Amino acid sequence: MQPVVMRPGPAAARDPRPGLSGLDRAALEAWLVEHGQPAFRARQIHNALWGGTATAPGDVSTLPRALAESLEASFRWSTVTEDTLVVADGGNTEKALHRLSDGATVESVLMHYPARAGRRARHTLCISSQAGCAVGCPFCATGELGFERDLETAEILDQVRGAVARLARQESGARLTNIVFMGMGEPLLNLDRVLEAVGALNDRQRLGLGARHITVSTSGVVPGIRRLTALGPQFTLAISLHAARDALRDVLVPLNRRWPVAEVVAAAREHARRTGRRISYEVTMIGGVNDTEADSEAIANLLRGDLAHVNLIPMNPVAHTPWTASPMPVIEAFAARLVAVGIPVTIRRNRGQEIGAACGQLAAERAGALAAPAVAWRRRRLEAASARALRGQRSDEPAPAGVES
Ligand code: SAH
Ligand code: SF4
Repeated sequence: MQPVVMRPGPAAARDPRPGLSGLDRAALEAWLVEHGQPAFRARQIHNALWGGTATAPGDVSTLPRALAESLEASFRWSTVTEDTLVVADGGNTEKALHRLSDGATVESVLMHYPARAGRRARHTLCISSQAGCAVGCPFCATGELGFERDLETAEILDQVRGAVARLARQESGARLTNIVFMGMGEPLLNLDRVLEAVGALNDRQRLGLGARHITVSTSGVVPGIRRLTALGPQFTLAISLHAARDALRDVLVPLNRRWPVAEVVAAAREHARRTGRRISYEVTMIGGVNDTEADSEAIANLLRGDLAHVNLIPMNPVAHTPWTASPMPVIEAFAARLVAVGIPVTIRRNRGQEIGAACGQLAAERAGALAAPAVAWRRRRLEAASARALRGQRSDEPAPAGVES
């Protein structure tokens, strides 16, 4: 299938009107009362935002025309100005490219898991929290883009509204069952907005999805993890571990140079202890790089006895790296060594590879093809860095800029 190429448009000024989906019931009621409207209109607006087919306040038949006009003047009904959809896996994976008011584009992926063996059908949505990402993990297509900007709360939520509406059109009664913050960006570097968005997703007056069905993944922003621990259980916390040895993790997750793996896991362990919620650790399996016996042993030693679950995910190919996924027998042997010390492990299979729609693999084609010499240079540099790391030598490169929090 031909990938859709959605290049960033000419940078436009950001629309200053807030997105309506970012307002909770109380804020909306306050605005209505201030504008001489009865507070009950807030319910009508929320119902139309999160259900139904309205694309503008004027489409909501229960709202008086004057109110629709003042809503239109003060807010955006949706912060997404254009959606492009690409479908793969026989219709079971849908990638949406969302264009925002200033021309920035972000992506979300809706994955359908049909019912089987007594399990109900699931519909999982993977969403973005930032345009681009400052962390710069070399195996990640978003990392290659660099950081563009944080998303507003409504820009996070409107990815969800788009999927809710699509799902309703596809199958009557179908609902999103899970939402994962595993798209573009590092959610814990945009934590205020992510927390607001999670609040809206939980809110019965808006999406009403339980905290257990929401997962936020981080590459290891320790102050952010500590802040979440203080708040109590909000969602499942996933940590992108990838390696337990600092030298290698410095290369795979450059944030490790700022917060080393032991500090990340200590914060996650404390989070599990205080919230009683199991931590999900993600390991993207890269052939010959982080899949060795020494790596599984290091992870086993690090997580043994913890309230934790490890997900092993074969790496999706990304053009600017020399790397590919570990072979399945290698992943199975790696899993067996963790299981042997009592760590629960799941091997995940990736979705939507042909459209670059695997979670964390977004924006690949939008990044555009790098010139051949630049790709070759990047690959050589990564090969040298990972080879040094495998010998246990730590990198002396600094932590990525712009990640202090
Ligand atoms: N920034 C956050 C969340 C977004 S990335 C984080 O890193 O946790 C979501 C997940 O996709 C991460 O676990 C990331 O390591 C993974 N990922 C990124 N690129 C990938 C690739 N090419 N193949 C497989 N997984 C990848
Ligand atoms: Fe950012 Fe996550 Fe990609 Fe790393 S894996 S560059 S933290 S989006």
